[in-house]
Amino acid sequence: MHDIDALIIGGGISGLSTAWWLAQSGLSVEVWEAAARPGGKIQSEQRDGYLTEQTASLLLNFRPEVADMVHLAGLEAKKAARTTAAEANRYLVHQGRLVSLPMRLGGLVRSPLWSGRGKLRLLLEPFIPAGEHEGETVSEFITRRLGREMLDKVMDAFVAGILAADPDYANAAATLPRLTALERCYGSLTAGVFMHRVLRRRTACRAETFSFQGGMGTLIDTLSSSPGVHLRSQHAVADLAPARRGWRVSATTPLGGRSVTARHVVVSTPASAAARLIAPLDQNIAGLLQTIRYAPLAVVHLGMDRSGVGHPLDGAGFLVPGCEGLPLNGNQWMSTLFGDRAPAGKVLLTSYLGGARRPEAVEWSNERLVDETLAALRPLIGVGADPEMVRIHRHHEGLPLYYGAHPALEREIAATARRHPGLHLEANYLGGVSVRDRIARGRALARRILMQERDVSAVYPAVASPLIAGL
Ligand SMILES: Cc1cc2nc3c(=O)[nH]c(=O)nc-3n(C[C@H](O)[C@H](O)[C@H](O)COP(=O)(O)OP(=O)(O)OC[C@H]3O[C@@H](n4cnc5c(N)ncnc54)[C@H](O)[C@@H]3O)c2cc1C
Repeated sequence: MHDIDALIIGGGISGLSTAWWLAQSGLSVEVWEAAARPGGKIQSEQRDGYLTEQTASLLLNFRPEVADMVHLAGLEAKKAARTTAAEANRYLVHQGRLVSLPMRLGGLVRSPLWSGRGKLRLLLEPFIPAGEHEGETVSEFITRRLGREMLDKVMDAFVAGILAADPDYANAAATLPRLTALERCYGSLTAGVFMHRVLRRRTACRAETFSFQGGMGTLIDTLSSSPGVHLRSQHAVADLAPARRGWRVSATTPLGGRSVTARHVVVSTPASAAARLIAPLDQNIAGLLQTIRYAPLAVVHLGMDRSGVGHPLDGAGFLVPGCEGLPLNGNQWMSTLFGDRAPAGKVLLTSYLGGARRPEAVEWSNERLVDETLAALRPLIGVGADPEMVRIHRHHEGLPLYYGAHPALEREIAATARRHPGLHLEANYLGGVSVRDRIARGRALARRILMQERDVSAVYPAVASPLIAGL
């Protein structure tokens, strides 16, 4: 007799998404989370008029799964769209000042970002033959297709600022799946973008950038309190063992030990915690998980008077190429992005330091983090005031790095896990770190679990819940 259909270990967005999708199909699902509250890395804080995020600040979506979840979970009315002011510019630091990244060909020709030779190299892209190989790094891929200047001045900033990674080590297919797919499908990025624009009208979901009223924590609160998702916080899973047609999971809780038997167990913790849980069952998977490295990150929120910043802040913020030698990877103008992030007459500026580029920054004192941030911001956006609000978050395991032969590693983990029916791994070290990818992957896993349940129900009709049988 099984206690529940599915137990999810870890109540971050990966675990909660899978739980939510499973619950939509009528399965009995519990989420066991070690911490006192769900969300994992995603935590919003509303205090003294400033709404700040510990990690993810927005969802950049183009996946129908996310649109479906937002709609079905009743989150449509709580969406906070990015303001039109934030759409105006995407800035990069170039030779010590901010330069807007051109989005059209005309802008590219006039942009000071590239030399004449660099511009010519960009225009040659459609004529470069396809030549991707699985171990290709981001640096190799971008240099091959778009030239060295594009790598040094744009992609390095993107990969370090958004993914905390080093393009010399990051796997191109795993880090830039959409770009590499364009080359694979259409032979060149230019042809791919053109075809994508033509086809998108009929197929894909409209791209949009948004958060929620109350921040990304609203997504977490909604998923974790949805009907059918039973969240058990302060349940630190310590043991996982095969049981008859399922798994026995044991946790320590403030009230003592607790165990449950589940047909499916989804391990949605960071890779190091997953390795510890799985090591007694399968040294091979544990060994693979232990090879996944993480970049540490420090997040520095500064709130100050609008009058203390000289720049119009007419965009979402800026990214920093490594060749500029600044301590920041990027700076987001949160009060421009969303209307509710700072009190009237104030601004909220959020900076990201550390990553693969400068991992030691996560160990800097609060004072040094603020001083280095202000020293970098002063000449770029004319910060002349002291912050009235400072919030700092350190993430020692900030973001998993999709380095080396990461796609092969993912395949190997999946193949090895298949040797343990009912055991699943789903977290941000597989298939994309973004909240968007986490939601989409959660749905794909829920579908696989439901398919397996349908197969089991054909053999053991008594264990099938009515909804699954009706699929
Ligand atoms: C600084 C930063 C900024 C980011 N910004 C964005 C952004 O703007 N947009 C975006 O889309 N993405 C962003 N991301 C990425 C995104 O936030 C993360 O990839 C995502 O939140 C990770 O979710 P997860 O569920 O896989 O892992 P986690 O959030 O780490 O959740 C894992 C959970 O497992 C729990 N756990 C661990 N061990 C156990 C155990 N033994 N028993 C029970 N529970 C356990 C942990 O307590 C935790 O709650 C950002 C990330 C960082 C670090």
